[in-house]
Amino acid sequence: MIEVRNLTKYYGSIRGVEDLSLKVPKGAVCGLIGPNGAGKTTTLKLLCCLLKPTSGEAWVAGVSIREELKVKKLIGYLPESQILYGFLTVREHIELAGRLHKLPRAELKAKAKALMEELKLSQLEDRRCGALSLGQRRRVGLALALIGDPEVLLLDEPTSGLDPAQRASLLKLIKAMAEEGRTVLLSSHVLHEVSEACSTIAVLREGRLAYHGSLEEFRERYCPIVEVEAPGVEKLESEVKGMWGAKSVKAERGKLTVEASDLDAARVGLVKLLAAHSLPVRSLRSPGLEEAYLKLVGEEGAA
Ligand code: ATP
Repeated sequence: MIEVRNLTKYYGSIRGVEDLSLKVPKGAVCGLIGPNGAGKTTTLKLLCCLLKPTSGEAWVAGVSIREELKVKKLIGYLPESQILYGFLTVREHIELAGRLHKLPRAELKAKAKALMEELKLSQLEDRRCGALSLGQRRRVGLALALIGDPEVLLLDEPTSGLDPAQRASLLKLIKAMAEEGRTVLLSSHVLHEVSEACSTIAVLREGRLAYHGSLEEFRERYCPIVEVEAPGVEKLESEVKGMWGAKSVKAERGKLTVEASDLDAARVGLVKLLAAHSLPVRSLRSPGLEEAYLKLVGEEGAA
């Protein structure tokens, strides 16, 4: 698990993060999101001991970040920009990282092979790292983060530079890692990925925590909307007004958008109402991760 308490980092007079407190339980994936410069990388670097805090405290798998050597054994860190030794092949690089973790030779070989398969690097194992594409380098970086079998994964924009198939398989891998009991904190600018992989999110804004909790609550707090699609549903606009604490109702052809204070009541009520009018529900959804994010951080913070 990860615990952060009143963590603050100033670079001279520039605020990196201030008074950050959050907990990520063991086996959970938390997404760190926020506009450019919000403090995501600073937070991850503090947790992996690449930066010293100005004040505050944090623990990684129960170990204080002041105990650098112990922390480094427990974490796998994927930096925002991966620096690789260009003269080493992919396999040599992964095995070197494994040796730094003092893995026994046979285990090291087997793990490196398994990771290369999982990260679709097997065909590249003899290629020098200097000759890899951006996405390929990212995958090698992940293998380096994972080779030590870390309890905690700190991933700075892990999917950047990956193609859609690789993104999907990486998100699956991250979820599987968490199911095995690892704790993951990852930063991302891609909200739908965050919603796929993460159980909670922490939104940073200008170095401060603006929200920490479930995605569901985030959506409902900042964008409490239900959209229902059915042919002819627009004729129910006036009937829906004022029900379930509806603050606004927007009718378009075949679609009603309801902003309500009690979203669950609105969902149940809409389905019943449509059934009573024999209108077939084509879809019922709550949009809004993106909308909720924009409401919280403002348009200038668009991810
Ligand atoms: P991005 O999404 O662009 O990667 P971020 O959320 O990761 O941004 P950080 O890199 O943590 O943001 O930066 C937080 C703040 O700290 C920014 O104002 C940044 O300019 C500042 N900062 C980061 N590193 C340094 C540094 N080495 N020296 C001075 N200021 C820094």
